[in-house]
Amino acid sequence: MTALPVRDDLVGRQPYGAPQLPEAIQLNVNENPFPPSASLVADLAAAVAAAGATLNRYPDREALGLRSDLAAYLTRVTGVALSVEQVWAANGSNEVLQQVCQAFGGPGRVALGFEPSYSMHPLLAAGTNTGWVAKSRASDFTLSVASAVGAVRAHQPAITFLTTPNNPTGTVLGLDVVQAVHDATTGVVVVDEAYAEFGTTPSAVTLLASCPRLLVSRTMSKAFAGAGLRLGYLAASSEVVDVLRLVRLPYHLSALTQAAARVALAHTEELLGTVEAVKVQRDRMVAGIAALGLEVVPTEANFLLFGQFPDPPAVWQALLAHGVLVRDVSTGPGLAGWLRVNAGTEPETTAFLEALAAVLAER
Ligand SMILES: *Cc1c(COP(=O)(O)O)cnc(C)c1O
Repeated sequence: MTALPVRDDLVGRQPYGAPQLPEAIQLNVNENPFPPSASLVADLAAAVAAAGATLNRYPDREALGLRSDLAAYLTRVTGVALSVEQVWAANGSNEVLQQVCQAFGGPGRVALGFEPSYSMHPLLAAGTNTGWVAKSRASDFTLSVASAVGAVRAHQPAITFLTTPNNPTGTVLGLDVVQAVHDATTGVVVVDEAYAEFGTTPSAVTLLASCPRLLVSRTMSKAFAGAGLRLGYLAASSEVVDVLRLVRLPYHLSALTQAAARVALAHTEELLGTVEAVKVQRDRMVAGIAALGLEVVPTEANFLLFGQFPDPPAVWQALLAHGVLVRDVSTGPGLAGWLRVNAGTEPETTAFLEALAAVLAER
């Protein structure tokens, strides 16, 4: 048998893969549990039909209408005036971050992250042949100015990833850390704000004017309840956006995606209206898990880390036997003993808390 001529650095790697088990109560990938309303679905259908009438043509390569809607949204929620040239969009923030690695990373360069954090950051670095430097957070999962600055000074990464609220810990970073890291490196600094709408910490967008190498990524997958839409975006200087345009595939955002995302943005009130309901369920989870005598890491996201368990995979399996799917993050760096769960609807959250109580009683 001949081996495939795959790149040496990809041999033996595992693809990203959280289980997809639709028959379970799915609380494992930080989705928003509230589906779009019937009126939003009707507006989506109409917009997709209209876009369908010209599907023989390539879409707007620069996605200017969508990017100006995204700029208007960010301006509204952050108070920072952003132009369309400062906002970039792609198929999920994962694609945005991949483009950042393609444009600013590559062979001979390294990206640095503070683990435990989002497992896709090192995978995106690997896929673009960018080296990866993993630095640790404190045992309570926080990150101080001193340790963050020390790490970037020591390694001079081309790309530094800061995630706030951090996945999978829910921990937030102050803007002082972002500013200090930016000032300590000549590379770009990516603040991954995938969960920003669930938190109360000010956005790094407010630092853009004073930080020319700062990139702030966001997504419609979480608070906007649009994981199936595949739309992520980024705010930065227009110079950074121009660099990303060098590596994007032509027409990377389909006409249907652009149309659907603009409809979702037109329904911002309705979609972000779910955020408060999600936070109520998250806080019920925090209180309910603590009442069972377990630890919960303080969170500003729609999920939380709970533990610590001597055998997390066994607890994960037992919860699944009760019909509830959570995330076993315990094999990740610094995460031994922990499981992650995201807030569901009220019945889903109740089912999780009952399942957890039952599992603890069985053990
Ligand atoms: C979920 C998540 C994303 C979002 O990815 P999409 O490709 O936009 O769905 C990005 N960053 C972090 C930290 C996440 O947890």
